Amino acid sequence: MRKVIYPGTFDPVTYGHIDIIKRARELFDSVIVTIARNPNKILPLFSVEERIEMLEKSLKDFDNVVVDTFDGLTVEHAKNVGAIGIIRGLRAVSDFEYEFQMALMNRKLDGNISTIFLMPHEKYTYLNSSIIRNLASLKSDVSDFVPPAVQEALINKFKD
Ligand code: ADP
Repeated sequence: MRKVIYPGTFDPVTYGHIDIIKRARELFDSVIVTIARNPNKILPLFSVEERIEMLEKSLKDFDNVVVDTFDGLTVEHAKNVGAIGIIRGLRAVSDFEYEFQMALMNRKLDGNISTIFLMPHEKYTYLNSSIIRNLASLKSDVSDFVPPAVQEALINKFKD
């Protein structure tokens, strides 16, 4: 059973993330999409519970994908759930420097857990959650970029 984790903030999940998840689920037996509870980030727009719900609704058709959360070290979580690797998405060269450092640090922490980089379809390379939050706060249509459950949650979040 070749299991991987796909860690991130997913605030909220976009079609870019889902593209990566689809590629990962073709390559591995099981994918755990795992929300970092305590990232070094500014306050998220959505609570962890809201992010779980949006992910679960958006991924309901994928039988070998589950959603969970973790606190602390990513490699520890990978080991605890029996994963052989960590999936990360690479959109552009700008992602590379940070991702490369993190992958090498994670390998230093646990040499048995590999980081696997996947590239999304080029139509998603400019997409990130923070742009989506901004667009939605300005009441722009984000239906090309996020699943319906996320679109609905964004509309609710920003309705006045
Ligand atoms: P983080 O909080 O680590 O910046 P996110 O939660 O936004 O990351 O995303 C988790 C992972 O998904 C990261 O590897 C990130 O590079 C990747 N990712 C985010 N958006 C996209 C996208 N549009 N296409 C491909 N990968 C993406």
